[in-house]
Amino acid sequence: DLADIGVTGLATMGRNLARNLARHGYAVAVHNRTYGRTQQLVKEFGGEGTFVPSEELAGFVASLKRPRRAIIMVKAGAGTDAVIEQLADLMEPGDMIVDGGNAHFQDTRRREAALRERGIHFVGTGISGGEEGALLGPSIMPGGSKESWEALGPILQDIAAQVEGVPCAVHVGPDGAGHFVKMVHNGIEYSDMQLIAESYDLLRQALGATPAELAEVFREWNEGDLGSYLIEITAEVLDQVDAETGKPFVDVVVDQAEQKGTGRWTVQSALDLGVPVTGIAEATFARALSGHPEQRAAAASLRGPKLSGVGGRELVEDVRQALYASKIVAYAQGFDQMAAASKEYGWDLELGAMATIWRGGCIIRAKFLDRIRSAYDANRELPTLLADPTFAAALDTAQEAWRRVVTTAVQIGVPTPGFSSALAYYDGLRRDRLPAALVQGLRDYFGAHTYHRVDKEGAFHVDWSGDRAEHPA
Ligand code: NDP
Repeated sequence: DLADIGVTGLATMGRNLARNLARHGYAVAVHNRTYGRTQQLVKEFGGEGTFVPSEELAGFVASLKRPRRAIIMVKAGAGTDAVIEQLADLMEPGDMIVDGGNAHFQDTRRREAALRERGIHFVGTGISGGEEGALLGPSIMPGGSKESWEALGPILQDIAAQVEGVPCAVHVGPDGAGHFVKMVHNGIEYSDMQLIAESYDLLRQALGATPAELAEVFREWNEGDLGSYLIEITAEVLDQVDAETGKPFVDVVVDQAEQKGTGRWTVQSALDLGVPVTGIAEATFARALSGHPEQRAAAASLRGPKLSGVGGRELVEDVRQALYASKIVAYAQGFDQMAAASKEYGWDLELGAMATIWRGGCIIRAKFLDRIRSAYDANRELPTLLADPTFAAALDTAQEAWRRVVTTAVQIGVPTPGFSSALAYYDGLRRDRLPAALVQGLRDYFGAHTYHRVDKEGAFHVDWSGDRAEHPA
């Protein structure tokens, strides 16, 4: 019998995705460059459902029902191009190739265009949730054509995470839209983690609290507005004790954060689109700063402030508020970036639906996403999440605490780039007049770049080196 769908690339992610499909009753064709992995999968998990193994890619393609549906889960980059090429050569018009790896959205746009010429649907799909998500229900962000969604949607919605009966899988938009949204998801994940890390650091430094005490704080926070997977696992990690030394686990881990690149991609794209994603950028740069031990050693003798150990228990609630407010800002920025990309690439993204996809299965899953969904339900054209009445009220409630937190951090010399830049963004966006007017004046002075007036149409230039009279440009 022919298989309903196939998976090629059976490392951690591919194997679990294939098992997820099989457990949902689909007959799954399986293939891997090294046949051993395929045999291993069938041997270990063959009892979970129907697997149709093939040693060669040609056999794999031949074992699929038409139109064929094949998911690629191989290492992102050149390997993916090679596998797509081989698959496409074996396929026919109308068939579908799904790339579930972490591809750059521009690669996906390029691949989609090339395969479209050959009549093959290329479906760049963001999959989040790691190893466990792939098996038990990931968050799935498919791009590609509407026709491909008709053939793939029901299957993807079946195997995705479900929240209150709603699957965390929606057709995102054409070509690279799915991988773009996955990229922004990862960028937001960076900023969420940075804000959590700042909260922990500030409370530990200011109050002298132990990691175990702070685990309790995060556990309490998880019951309220901040309730989310990342807050929940922060408590778990802070509670962990190193078996060898008996020290808190966080004190035996090297304090250099690594990255695989999706945060960097998000910031690079934001620069291209002209969208300020300061939360994601600061998080990415904070990781970069941590990863320079030679500079950190050289700077270790620089003096900090004399003040230390300030504040009492009230700081805990202040930090909770600062974390929530900064999180609202970081998400507002990420959603702005998706809106800008939607316009730039003609994707027609429905922003509220993106919040729905992320409610379950993925790393940034949180109660909070329901509020974002409601904000876009109330106003599809919302210019910024900060202007949604619910978020505006939350920011207003939080702002005194937020300012105290940033002040305290500055006074005792604990870096909180996430909190500070989010507050600066909030203050910048709400200002009626920005000093950008002076910047425009300077640009006109040294470069005759011209400026616009508040009271008249048109561009103007001042003859700075002459009589300093204004002329229409
Ligand atoms: P890896 O990224 O470690 O990739 C290993 C797999 O790729 C193996 O099956 C390997 O085959 C295959 N492969 C590599 N190069 C080639 C090639 N040139 N031709 C054919 N096959 C090749 O696997 P993961 O399961 O960790 O991830 C798969 C994809 O999913 C990646 O794009 C990753 O970025 C993405 N992803 C991963 C997540 C995670 O939590 N790990 C989460 C979400 C997405 P072989 O066995 O023969 O070496």
